[in-house]
Amino acid sequence: MTKVQSLLHSPDVRGYFGSYGGRFIPETLVDPLRRLEIEYQKIQGNPAFWKEWKSILHNFCGRPTPLYFAERLTEKLGGARIYFKREDLLHTGAHKINNAIGQILLARRMGKHRVIAETGAGQHGVATAAAAARFGMECVVYMGAVDMHRQALNVSRMRLLGAQVVPVLAGQSTLKEAVSEAMRDWVANSRTTHYVLGSVLGAHPYPLIVRDFHRIIGEEVRQQVLACEGRLPDLLVACIGGGSNAMGLFYAFLQDMSVQLVGVEAGGSGIRPGCHAARFQGGRVGILQGTKTWLLADQDGQIERTHSISAGLDYPAVGPEHSLLREIGRVEYNYATDAEALEAFRIFSRCEGILPALESAHAIAYVLKIGPTLPRERIILVNLSGRGDKDVEQVAKEPTECTGSPAGAQSPALPPP
Ligand SMILES: *Cc1c(COP(=O)(O)O)cnc(C)c1O
Repeated sequence: MTKVQSLLHSPDVRGYFGSYGGRFIPETLVDPLRRLEIEYQKIQGNPAFWKEWKSILHNFCGRPTPLYFAERLTEKLGGARIYFKREDLLHTGAHKINNAIGQILLARRMGKHRVIAETGAGQHGVATAAAAARFGMECVVYMGAVDMHRQALNVSRMRLLGAQVVPVLAGQSTLKEAVSEAMRDWVANSRTTHYVLGSVLGAHPYPLIVRDFHRIIGEEVRQQVLACEGRLPDLLVACIGGGSNAMGLFYAFLQDMSVQLVGVEAGGSGIRPGCHAARFQGGRVGILQGTKTWLLADQDGQIERTHSISAGLDYPAVGPEHSLLREIGRVEYNYATDAEALEAFRIFSRCEGILPALESAHAIAYVLKIGPTLPRERIILVNLSGRGDKDVEQVAKEPTECTGSPAGAQSPALPPP
């Protein structure tokens, strides 16, 4: 680790973080992605853009979000002091809006009047729908039919915000299929349409853009924890779907080697093929939906089925920068099962009076395990990426058992022809 010069990685000119990332796309998307990259380079040196973005995040979304000391949970676990970054208090209920606002502003600069998005749990769809309404843009959200069923409340919210929600009925009818549909739409309509991608995934420059719009999470945390504790935390914990809330929290601390970083993936009903979404546990390197990264696929390159109680973590690939951070050993990746996340949801709700998103409950589950083992003077800081209102029905239900089918027949982990 000592030889690493900087841990603040920018992808190289071809969009690679180390050997991960890149741009595995059909011919028709080369030009739209190039234009997006150029526009993004332009705003980097444009303080007026960031000033407007920050002002909207403040007035429309409620930034800065508080850093909250979980007094009762700390007492209950009897170990390290536990803090939560309250991204759940943001407008629309999760961190997703940081990125949605940023990309809508980018779309407006590029003269686009229509935006499309994919969504799993519906949080990114709701954030994009709200941001699109706020700027008077047309919005279409692709969502797997299974996810529409398990996140019905968010479907209603998107429609009330004026978005068209299109059910996707291919394959497993979840997030991966929704991404494919959104990409198809973008290929056909890129002249008028911007694709608001929802995590640090996809072809370059998306993993970079999405990360940069979430960096504000860790930047605020750094100031807040220094103000209340006078020092940096010992451990940061975040759940990992694509990995955007985690990158947002971790980025400001990557160079501080005293700060341990842990990402928590979805262990579903156990680490068996088809039963989980923990890419770093049962996965390997491959290519999916524009990027080369760790994913869940069998030896023939067929994408495996995934399972998680939490729709927002139920995706077979992880963001390419996480693959690099794991390779160099800067971030450690762990997982929590459905049962552990549910237990964490219940304990945290009663202990702190906050319903966490089931996604965030995976991070809390890890803390329930590690917290009691750490001395009292240590500081753990958890990203509470979203609120649990959307999950109330899911939590009341009996968890569905996984049958362990590895079949992902129609989704080879290869670039499109
Ligand atoms: C979407 C979502 C996630 C997972 O996405 P990341 O890109 O990994 O952050 C986690 N928590 C909540 C509340 C979400 O809505």
